[in-house]
Amino acid sequence: QRIKIKELLNSPQYVEQMVTVKGWVRTRRSNKNVSFVALNDGSVIHNLQLVVDPAHISEAILKDITTGACISATGTLVPSQGSGQSVELQVQALTILGKADADKYPLQPKRHSLEFLREIAHLRPRTNTFSAVFRVRHALAFAVHKFFNDRGFFYIHTPIITASDAEGAGEMFRVSTLDPTRLPKTPEGAIDYAEDFFGRETNLTVSGQLEGELFAMALSEIYTFGPTFRAENSNTARHLAEFWMIEPEMAFYDLTDNMNLAEDFLKYLINYALEHCADDLDFLNKRALEEDKNKKKEEQSELSLLERLHFVVDNPFERLTYTQAIEILRNSKPNKKGKFQFPIEGWGTDLQSEHERYLVEKHFKKPVILTDYPKEIKSFYMKQNDDGKTVGAMDVLFPGIGEIIGGSQREEDYDKLVQRMREMHVPEDTLWWYLETRKFGTTPHSGFGLGFERLVQFVTGMGNIRDVIPFPRTPKNAEF
Ligand code: ATP
Ligand code: MG
Ligand code: MG
Ligand code: MG
Repeated sequence: QRIKIKELLNSPQYVEQMVTVKGWVRTRRSNKNVSFVALNDGSVIHNLQLVVDPAHISEAILKDITTGACISATGTLVPSQGSGQSVELQVQALTILGKADADKYPLQPKRHSLEFLREIAHLRPRTNTFSAVFRVRHALAFAVHKFFNDRGFFYIHTPIITASDAEGAGEMFRVSTLDPTRLPKTPEGAIDYAEDFFGRETNLTVSGQLEGELFAMALSEIYTFGPTFRAENSNTARHLAEFWMIEPEMAFYDLTDNMNLAEDFLKYLINYALEHCADDLDFLNKRALEEDKNKKKEEQSELSLLERLHFVVDNPFERLTYTQAIEILRNSKPNKKGKFQFPIEGWGTDLQSEHERYLVEKHFKKPVILTDYPKEIKSFYMKQNDDGKTVGAMDVLFPGIGEIIGGSQREEDYDKLVQRMREMHVPEDTLWWYLETRKFGTTPHSGFGLGFERLVQFVTGMGNIRDVIPFPRTPKNAEF
C-alpha cells in the first residue's frame, strides 16, 4: 500500500518501518556502490531520497531509473546521514511503472524558462515551481469556500451559457450549433438565431453577477465561483480568455459593508495560504528572490514575497475616492525630463494599470480601495450617487497586480436603473427578469468580483497570469 511522501516526511511513526512509495524520478546520482534517487509524488515540494544498492536491484531495472520515469519503491525508512533531508528510503524492491527516455524527456534536471514550460503545459506540473503554484491554488480555492461557508453564504452555480451581457464590453464568446458557412439571415440581414439550439443568441458568461443578484434577493448572502470567459484581445500578463471569478452578492450591504467584506476576504485567503502552504511559499519566496536578482535595480521589489504577504494581512487598506486619486496622480512628481511620470488625461477617464500601480506601489505603498468612479466608465447596474456624476463602485488595487477586485453597490431603484440602461443602450428585453427584482421587494445590495488567478498571482509571486492556471487560454493559444 502506497504512502504519500508528504506523510513520510511529516510523521515520525514511519521511521524504521517498511513502506512503499510511488512517484516520478527527479534526479539520480550514482557511483559504483550506490545510487541516490530523488523521488517526487507531488504531495509536497520536497523529494524523498531513495538509496538504491545495485547489489539488490537487477541491471535491467537500474538502467531505467532515469529522470521522468515513474517508479514504485519499497524499503525501510531510516534517518538520513546526508544533509538536506531528515529521512531516506533504503530500497529493497523497485519496479518501473513507466519509463522515460532520458534523451527525449523534455524536463531536464535544470531550471527551464517559464516560456518554455508554457509550451509543455502537459508536463510542467512535474516541476517544483508549478507543483507549488497548483498546490497553493488548490488551498486558496478551498479557503474561498471555507470563508463563505463559515459566514453563512450559499454557493450558487450561475449558468455558463447565457443570453445576457453583464458588462456590455463586447468581449463575449458566442455559443452556437449553426453551421458557420451557412448562417441563416433575417429579412434585415442579421444572423437569425431562431434556428439555433436555444432559439436565440447565446454566449459564454462574462460574469455571474446578474444571476447572483437574483439569489442575494432571496437567500440574502450568496457567492459564485466559476469559470468566466472574455475574448480579451490584448496579450497582457493579467488577462486570460478563460479565468475563474469569485462573486459574492449580498442583500442589505452598502458600499462600506462591501469594502469591509472584500478586505476581510482577501486577508483571510492570504492568511490561509501562509498557514497551510508554508513549504510551498517558502520555495516560491526563494524563487522570487532569485528572479529579482535578474531584474534592473528599479524593478526589484522592496519586499520579498513573504514580507509582502504579511504586510498586506497586517495593515489596513487605504480607502479613497477616484476623484482624490486623480488629484494625487495629477500632482505626481515630474521625472528628470520634466514630464509627469504618469500623465493622466483628467477626471472622467479610466485609470490605466500604470496609474493603479503608482498609487499602490509608490504613493501609498499598500493595497488601495478606490471608490465612486465616474458613471460613464462603469457598468449600468452600479448605484448612482446623489452628485449625478459618480457611482458607488469600488476597485481593490494590489501591488504588482493592479485591479484584483471590481465591485459596487447595485442600483436598487427601478426607475433609475431603467433610465441608466436606456442611456447606455442596454437592451431591456433580455434583462426583464433582472428588472423584476427591482419591482418586487427590492433592497439595497452590493457585491464584487475577485479574479481568482490574480489572487493566485499575488500569493505565489508569479509575474504572468499564464503561469497560475493549469491550461491558459489566450489569443491563439488553446493547444492543451
Ligand atoms: P481589467 O480592468 O483588469 O480588465 P475589469 O475591470 O475588466 O478588469 P471586472 O469586470 O471588474 O474586470 O472583473 C472583476 C475581476 O475579475 C477583476 O478585478 C479582475 O481581478 C478579474 N478579471 C477581469 N478580467 C480578467 C481576465 N481577462 N483575466 C483574468 N482576470 C480577470
Ligand atoms: Mg477588462
Ligand atoms: Mg478595470
Ligand atoms: Mg473592474
